[in-house]
Amino acid sequence: MSDTAAAADLETFIAGLPKAELHVHHVGSASPRIVAQLAARHPNAKVPSDPQQLAEYFTFRDFAHFIEVYLSVVDLIRDAEDVRLLTYEVARDMARQNIRYAELTVTPFSSTRRGIPDREFCDAIEDARKAAEAELGVVLRWCFDIPGEAGLESAEETARIATELQPAGLVGFGLGGPEIGVPRPQFKPYFDRARAVGLHSVPHAGETTGPQTVWDALRHLGAERIGHGTTSTQDPALVDFLGENRIPLEVCPTSNIATRAVATLEEHPIREMFAAGLKVTINSDDPPMFGTDLNHEYAVAARLLDLDETGVTALAKNAVDASFLDDAGKAALGAEIDGHLAAHRADPRHRA
Ligand SMILES: [Zn+2]
Repeated sequence: MSDTAAAADLETFIAGLPKAELHVHHVGSASPRIVAQLAARHPNAKVPSDPQQLAEYFTFRDFAHFIEVYLSVVDLIRDAEDVRLLTYEVARDMARQNIRYAELTVTPFSSTRRGIPDREFCDAIEDARKAAEAELGVVLRWCFDIPGEAGLESAEETARIATELQPAGLVGFGLGGPEIGVPRPQFKPYFDRARAVGLHSVPHAGETTGPQTVWDALRHLGAERIGHGTTSTQDPALVDFLGENRIPLEVCPTSNIATRAVATLEEHPIREMFAAGLKVTINSDDPPMFGTDLNHEYAVAARLLDLDETGVTALAKNAVDASFLDDAGKAALGAEIDGHLAAHRADPRHRA
């Protein structure tokens, strides 16, 4: 088989592979199709509804510009119906990629500060979660994250909603937004409160700042997984710590290029992470905004790590292991993933 044919074969395999995604943002998953639906509900918004103009609008100069565009899409989420529509339609886009389980990073503060009552917000995502599971076969869980750029007021509000309302799908508590000028340790009290009610700690760290931020996330916020952790490989002691403690990394290759956190894919530290035996999971972050989806991220990882079908299956199982699914859920999804590889191997066209 030619290299091109083998790559096409692998892409077909990835498309059919049942997958879990652990690092993907709610508003950041709004595809042009979904943004157009939201913009149509709010014609006075400054976001274009034309697909070509949207593509240009989604081209980022740097991380600060990305945040600016992201926040203008946030501004389209104005009532509970917008929240329900967005959430359900995001699940529809996931179903098309055979994503079976996702821990979606949700930022309730962005909506409550715009006047959507907290309870209505939680009810809307929960309604969408139940419908997505029943109608689309996509199991959603939530990680509520603090938008770091909005300061401690947003941390207080996020912790309050997470601990007082605690919607049934909520499993994690995170921290996103810019890292420069937003030190992690100040968020410790809010993570302590979230962890006290059983939520898992999943902050972003080491995306746009160095390995010290990852250490801070581990030591002060009790991080159980690291969002990105791209700069971790700059510190051998940190690599050892992450490996010994089996702390998974939520790696999002294309995002890192789009936001200029990493200059080129060839320079992406995923190879060092993998070679060091770290638990690497593959994720899409804000897929339509970065012109990607989870299947494409798996293909990128396969190319960078020189993986075949068995290798990408192992990546898919890493995500299941690193998820907050219960043991039965992990076993069931793991078995589906194994089944996909077994069916591929049993196909006479793929026998060596
Ligand atoms: Zn992220």
